Amino acid sequence: MAKPERLKNLIGGEWVEPRSGAYLERHNPADSRELVAIYPASNAEDAEAAIAAAQKAYPAWRLTPAPRRAEILYRAAELLVQRKEAFARDMTREMGKVLVETRGDVQEAIDMLYFMAGEGRRLYGQTTPSELANKVCMTTRAPIGVAGLITPWNFPMAIPSWKLAPCLLCGNTAVLKPAEDTPLSSLNLVRILIEAGLPPGVVNIVMGRGAEVGAVLVNDERTRIVSFTGSTTVGRQVGQQAAARFKHCNLELGGKNAILVMADADLDVAVDGSLWGAFGTSGQRCTATSRIVVERSVYSKFVQRMTERTRELKIGNGLDEAHQVGPIVNARQLERIAEYVAIGRNEGARLVIGGAALNQGELAHGHFFAPTIFADAKPSMRIAQEEIFGPVVTIMPCDGLDEAIAIANGVGYGLSSSLYTANVNAAFRALRDLESGIVYINAPTIGAEVHLPFGGMRNTGNGHRESGMATLDVYSEWKTLYVDYSGHLQRAQIDTQE
Ligand code: NAD
Repeated sequence: MAKPERLKNLIGGEWVEPRSGAYLERHNPADSRELVAIYPASNAEDAEAAIAAAQKAYPAWRLTPAPRRAEILYRAAELLVQRKEAFARDMTREMGKVLVETRGDVQEAIDMLYFMAGEGRRLYGQTTPSELANKVCMTTRAPIGVAGLITPWNFPMAIPSWKLAPCLLCGNTAVLKPAEDTPLSSLNLVRILIEAGLPPGVVNIVMGRGAEVGAVLVNDERTRIVSFTGSTTVGRQVGQQAAARFKHCNLELGGKNAILVMADADLDVAVDGSLWGAFGTSGQRCTATSRIVVERSVYSKFVQRMTERTRELKIGNGLDEAHQVGPIVNARQLERIAEYVAIGRNEGARLVIGGAALNQGELAHGHFFAPTIFADAKPSMRIAQEEIFGPVVTIMPCDGLDEAIAIANGVGYGLSSSLYTANVNAAFRALRDLESGIVYINAPTIGAEVHLPFGGMRNTGNGHRESGMATLDVYSEWKTLYVDYSGHLQRAQIDTQE
């Protein structure tokens, strides 16, 4: 077992102990005997000091040309490429995802940094004719100020990169509050940004509990942007608090994503996709497939094949490359999943496979849960409505595309959905009618690419998008510029009438 790292906060370019002197521990969820990191239990004073440092760094960073800011992001991407394997291993030990997935998480941060580095020489605004003679009109993106960035544990490097890269590129400074379960992986990204040449105070990281540190980032008058990814419950509170102070605020919240399988679909491809969508990251993705709606004529065959493939999955410590499904992030989440399985049984859904924690042999010291399938469920059941955030998928029959789409749309969330079909007309109807921020055809609900917008409808967010060019609207303010070079007064809407 590797030695545990003792982490410090980064405030104003200095690695510092928390004011309280108190620390928290993070243990490996695949083997809780391993202590992975000891990290600061920061308090409001630490958060306030970090905000002050970010505010101090803002004037110079704001005036640093965007292409120069972008060069630092580019260098960070290059450094991350070199450290990819080491950081992926840290992440597997810290939060459990299997290595192939933690490499993907680091790769997503690399992709995001390269993408935003390219944006440094664009950051396009518009130029447009004026209604008056001898007058020029244009728009630019202006930075906003200090950003408070609050992130979850399931993509502990990718999600901080989705926020930090556009935030810094646009000329803002930042305080990052990583999730309690994953301080090390988020810190690894910050270390790389510092090594790449980011000036002191431009990025700060304060570790600790959400209610203590996160709440300060949301409520302090000096943070002008709040970007939050996490649960809908906390997100609603964050959104209300940020709104009270008119902050730029984007919320990326929960999901209850569905795959729809039509009778004409290639069933093997649909089963492959469903397996990956439901049990990748042990189902702990906001885009995880947690419902599958199958046309009745192929329903039994689909349930049978899905069950057979689920039985073959290899579960265990993600550092062993033979394993396909790792542990659940912590004991609390494991209990929550078991509670949902009990709810599903009580509601009368048919438990086809799984349904219990795994704690025999090599799994004895970890938080493992068997990949679980419920079949013959009704769309109104709680297991088909509420986010479980674990390896539990609910399969339901339907009669045709219209009913499948109605079931998919019949939940409070609207993040990702998918249709498997060979019928091009059905595909385009689904692309139009599925009410989710992301729609896939013949691919599972997971697997976003960084140059496209990411986010959801209804209870999944507040209408903003992360990633892609769309994310720039979170981290910059449109400024409209008029230059009149006529040498006399010209009045819009009035002097145009003659
Ligand atoms: P969570 O809401 O418990 O915590 C998220 C972050 O918020 C953590 O850093 C936490 O410390 C902080 N926090 C907690 N209370 C706070 C408060 N009062 N004020 C400010 N910050 C506070 O979520 P989680 O368990 O870490 O993550 C799982 C959830 O995140 C799931 O619902 C999942 O769907 C969602 N998620 C969404 C996306 C997306 O992009 N839509 C991506 C990943 C995860």
